[in-house]
Amino acid sequence: MKKLQLLLLVTCVLGFTAQAQYKLPQLNYSYADLEPYIDSTTMYIHYNNHHAAYTNNLNAALSKYPELYKKDLVEIFQNFSELPADIQTAVRNNGGGYYNHVLFWELLTPASKSKMSPVVEKALIANFGSVDQFKAEFEKAAATRFGSGWAWLIKDNSGKLKIVSTPNQDNPLMSFAEAKGKPVLAIDVWEHAYYLKYQSKRADYTKAFWHVVNWKKVEELLK
Ligand code: MN
Repeated sequence: MKKLQLLLLVTCVLGFTAQAQYKLPQLNYSYADLEPYIDSTTMYIHYNNHHAAYTNNLNAALSKYPELYKKDLVEIFQNFSELPADIQTAVRNNGGGYYNHVLFWELLTPASKSKMSPVVEKALIANFGSVDQFKAEFEKAAATRFGSGWAWLIKDNSGKLKIVSTPNQDNPLMSFAEAKGKPVLAIDVWEHAYYLKYQSKRADYTKAFWHVVNWKKVEELLK
């Protein structure tokens, strides 16, 4: 009897710990590597405080329904209404926060490695007329997002590239998003992403962002 109880306990504990909790991703560069365009202190706080908080809060919400760890976050975003009502807001804010930042870090790279490939250039010209026109529209979406949020380049179901923005930590994968599509490029326009260096000048931060875009990742997401 005791052996059976022990076995049950062990199975239970293993079953619980086997649920993969979300973790902060490894960065492919150090905090100072995006200087002078994104400063080291902002990177440190953004990653260790903001992204860590989204990660912890997402895990706190999902731990009420551990079976949800078996689902991909994208699948959760796409079927949002199926989530238990009591964690919908927490998963929207913190699941979005977790996912968006994982992607954002991958979309950044030291300026010395930021080079647009011919494949990306062609796609931008085909969809926006020119790279400059694309950048102007993307900067406008970033500038006109009132309050906190993100500007995105997305690929919609028909394969067309579009520029959109979302409030808070929403993203274009979420079932209720105004314009849905697969993210290809993103910029975080929450004040925490730029205020230390650029204060209220979001437009200056958005312009600086072009120096540290990881175009290799953009090309990968385009495919
Ligand atoms: Mn952020």
